[in-house]
Amino acid sequence: MPELPEVETTRRGLAPWLEGQQLARIVVRVPKLRWPIPADFGRRLPGARVVALDRRAKWLLLRTDRGTALLHLGMTGSFRVLRDDRAPGLHDHVDLVTGAGVTIRFNDPRRFGSVLWTEEDPALHPLIAPLGPEPLGAGFTGDYLHRRSRKRGIAIKPHLMNAHIVVGVGNIYASEALFRAGIHPARAAGRVALPRLEALAGAVREVLTEAIRAGGTTLRDFYDGEGQPGYFAQRLRVYDRADQPCVSCGAPVRQMVLGQRSSYYCPRCQR
Ligand SMILES: [Zn+2]
Repeated sequence: MPELPEVETTRRGLAPWLEGQQLARIVVRVPKLRWPIPADFGRRLPGARVVALDRRAKWLLLRTDRGTALLHLGMTGSFRVLRDDRAPGLHDHVDLVTGAGVTIRFNDPRRFGSVLWTEEDPALHPLIAPLGPEPLGAGFTGDYLHRRSRKRGIAIKPHLMNAHIVVGVGNIYASEALFRAGIHPARAAGRVALPRLEALAGAVREVLTEAIRAGGTTLRDFYDGEGQPGYFAQRLRVYDRADQPCVSCGAPVRQMVLGQRSSYYCPRCQR
């Protein structure tokens, strides 16, 4: 499933082809992905100028002078940039064709992705308004986590993965960040002291930033229309390493289930 770094890499890959461009043609080949695609989507956009391609959580916000398209990759969605007019494949559901003749093609075999439209401020959209702060934004700090976790008995790992607390911290990144901050994933959120939450906020920023940086190396294939930003070759320190030695102390990494997700941790380094 694409996580925040893959979505951010997609944004960086698409932005130069879209920003400032006029949309010439929209092709919608399915009526519905996770939700119905607005029936008039293909008629509203031609002629619109793209102001910016932004990201909020795992949503791409295609801001135009007529409104904003809200695009989500779901579980298996991806975009490609095509500079020729090759025929669409089976799961190529939507094309955005720019005035420069470039096709931005959305492919999604499992159809859990989304293409929505709003003429209001997208920050007020019901799918976006309830979301917590961006993990790479200025609002995500140890102080913030401290405020949001006092008196909370929930384990710190599912707390960190809750999009109302902070967006975009998936299972892999939560495991890795907790390892770097030395916090046991099952520790009650309300019992982690401020300095450790400061370390945790820093570790979340660090693992996401490293993944985004690794993603940049996949962009060349993306431009050629063949590849897509994949899962980034980041060296994972605990995730999926059950029984292997901890990179820091050598103790065997352990696995446990928390909030129905597999969690990996070092029993010696994480308290
Ligand atoms: Zn260790």
